[in-house]
Amino acid sequence: MHDSDCLFCKIARGQIPSRKVYEDDEFFAFHDIRPAAPIHFLIVPKAHVASMAHVTEEHAPMLGRMLTLAPRLAAQEGCNPYPEGGFRLVVNTGTEGGQEVHHLHLHVLGGPRPWARG
Ligand code: AMP
Ligand code: ZN
Repeated sequence: MHDSDCLFCKIARGQIPSRKVYEDDEFFAFHDIRPAAPIHFLIVPKAHVASMAHVTEEHAPMLGRMLTLAPRLAAQEGCNPYPEGGFRLVVNTGTEGGQEVHHLHLHVLGGPRPWARG
C-alpha cells in the first residue's frame, strides 16, 4: 500500500509536512516546493505506484478519478477559467521523462504567464 522510503508516501501520510491543497481517502494534493508557475501543485494517489510506466488496467478507475480531480482543484487554487486561463497537466515518467520522485504524481500548473520554467 505504501513504501516507507518514499517521499510522497510520507507526505501523503502527514509524516513530512507539506502545504496541503486537498485530501480524500484516495488522493493527497499539495503545493510543489519549487513552483514552475504561479500555481503549481501535485496530486498523488495515497497508494504507492512508482510511475506511469507501472500502471495496469486495474489502475484505470483511479487514473480517471485523478484526472477528474485536476480541473476542480485547479479552479479551487485560482487558475483562471478556460479558454483564456486554463492549466497544464504533466506526468514525468522515468529518468528520460524527467521524473525525480518515484511515486506517481500529476503536476497541475497554471496562472498568468510568463512562468518560471516552460
Ligand atoms: P518530478 O520531477 O515529476 O518527479 O517532480 C517532483 C516534484 O516534486 C518537483 O517539482 C519537486 O519540486 C517536488 N518536490 C520535491 N520534494 C518536495 C516536497 N518535500 N514538497 C513538495 N514538493 C516537492
Ligand atoms: Zn510512495
